[in-house]
Parts: sequence; C-alpha cells; structure tokens
Amino acid sequence: MIIITQPAVTEEQIRQIVARLEDFGLEAHVSRGDSRVTVGVSGPEELARNQPLASLPGVEAIVPLAKPYKLAAKSARRAASTVDICGVSIGSKAAVAVISGPCSVESREQILSIARLVKDSGARLLRGGAFKPRTSPYSFQGLREEGLRFLAEARNETGLPVVTEIMDARDLPLIERYADCLQIGARNMQNFSLLRDVGRSHLPVLLKRGFSATLNELVMSAEYILNEGNANVLLCERGIRTFENATRYTLDLSAVPILKAKTHLPVLVDPTHGVGLREIVPQMALAAVAAGADAIMIEVHDSPEDAKSDGRQALFPETLSKLVPRLRAVANAIGRDL
Ligand code: PEP
Ligand code: MN
Repeated sequence: MIIITQPAVTEEQIRQIVARLEDFGLEAHVSRGDSRVTVGVSGPEELARNQPLASLPGVEAIVPLAKPYKLAAKSARRAASTVDICGVSIGSKAAVAVISGPCSVESREQILSIARLVKDSGARLLRGGAFKPRTSPYSFQGLREEGLRFLAEARNETGLPVVTEIMDARDLPLIERYADCLQIGARNMQNFSLLRDVGRSHLPVLLKRGFSATLNELVMSAEYILNEGNANVLLCERGIRTFENATRYTLDLSAVPILKAKTHLPVLVDPTHGVGLREIVPQMALAAVAAGADAIMIEVHDSPEDAKSDGRQALFPETLSKLVPRLRAVANAIGRDL
C-alpha cells in the first residue's frame, strides 16, 4: 500500500508515520515529490490494512495495492469455474442455463403445474421461495417446510434441480434436506454470519447482489462463503437502487463483464427483480445473455394476478416458452449454447 500525506505534512509527522509502520513490523519507503511526500509500505498487505494508519496526523489517503479478496479473485484459478447443481453445469464454457419458477411456492398444485411449464420451456432449474423476505411483516411469508416439500416433489417429477432462498441459518439443515442450491437474497448479502454458515454447507450458493452494494462488496461476500470451504458460489446481479423510478430497480448489466474480470465465479442475471415489470423482462434477459451471463433467473406464474408475491413482474408461461429460443439465438450468436 501507499500512504499519501497531506500537502502541509511536517517532518515530525513523517517521522511518526515511519515509526508507527516499523512498530507494526512493516517497512516504510519515503519518497519526496515536489508537492507531496508518499510513503510506500512493504510487508504483508493484510497486516498494513488492519492498522489504523488513515487516522495518523499528516495522512491524507491510503491507497491499497493488493485486492481485498483472494479466493474469489480471477487470479486464484487457472480458468473460470463451473458450479454443478445436480448435473446442471453453470459457468465458464457451459451452456447458459435458465432458472425459472414462481417468486413464492403458494400451494402443491401451483408449484407442480408451474414446474411442468418451466420444464417444457427448456429452462434447466426450478426456483421458488419457501421463506420469503418481505418488506412488510403482514405480507405472505412463505409456506416454509411445506413449501420445501412441494418443491422437492416438483423436482422429483420434472427432474429440475431446485433453488430456494435461505434467510436464517437455523433453517439450513431443513433446507438442505429438500433443495439443491441455496439462494442468499439481496437483503442478506451482507449477513456475514449467514454467509459463514452456508459456506459450511455441501450445497452450492447463489449469492444475490444487495441493492445498495458495490460489486467489490458482492465479491467480498462471496469470499466469506469460499473461505469456509464451499467452492460452489454463483454471483447474481438483480438490480440496484438508483434515482430512476420507472423500473423497480436499475439492472446493472455492466456487472457481468466487470465481475467476470474480477473473479472466476459464474455470473448470473435476474432481470425480473432488476426491472420489476413483466413487459420488459424479456428484453433485459436477452441483453443479459448478450453481456455474457452464465445463467438467467426469471420469475414465472400461471396466474400472476393471483400471485402472493411479485405478480407484477412474473412472466406468463407462454412468454417464457417464446423467450427461451430467443435467448438461445443470442447465446449462439456469442458462441455459447443454451
Ligand atoms: C427472489 O428471488 O424472490 C428475491 C426475493 O430476490 P431478491 O433477494 O433479489 O430481492
Ligand atoms: Mn420475487
């Protein structure tokens, strides 16, 4: 790291900065420019990072040189990684996968009939929430274990692996019994104790970007999971909060190439939550495939007007069926299968 001093730094302050670094076991290299003095720090970057150097008198800024993440970094692997969810590979050169299903599991009949439509559309994985993170405590909270049972039944019938959200680590053993991939929702992206717990699960983890989180923060959250030993992490862009209110969130498609440059992990896009309007979900899904997404998550409902959550953004099943071949055409155009 490099310490940049204030223009008015005194020789005494520079002496103190150097002495503090040496106390920490770090080496200081002072360079005197025309208007500034900078201090290069050598020694373990992490040791330097954990010291309260920014508050030393005369210090203006600290510029870290090494990346704060290691296991998630692209440089940690020779090639991009793929994550296997019960035989469906996601990432690297694997075919682009479509993950679809309702926002919430609402009844046995509902999830079974939607799962069949999802399967027929060509999607490869089934999604559905049994534990729902709702803004209001009075809104439908999910069917919990019963919902998980219905999801597992839908998986057994269709063969589609199941992705479902975990909100509380206490539910982990239960969810592990029924699901094939754990989803960490946007609202829990920085629930670090939950991240550590899913990091010890044998199931892959689909980690959604918090709607106020930077891409580096998303990668740091993935680092928590990887650091516990779970190598099967998928990153998911799902829209961020901006001043624009024509859409529910602003889908940040530049996240795809940027995350791929930073990490070796598969990158997914959820255009449904990203825009919140079913009319424009197909266009954004196509754009996400064009941008290089490894999988696309799309909510679908056979009767969106009756949906217990997120009906406004759910595609009608026939729209999903028409969309999948178009997604395939875009994937093929950039040299990928779907
Ligand atoms: C969901 O997938 O239904 C969901 C709640 O997503 P997010 O966490 O991105 O809002
Ligand atoms: Mn939803």
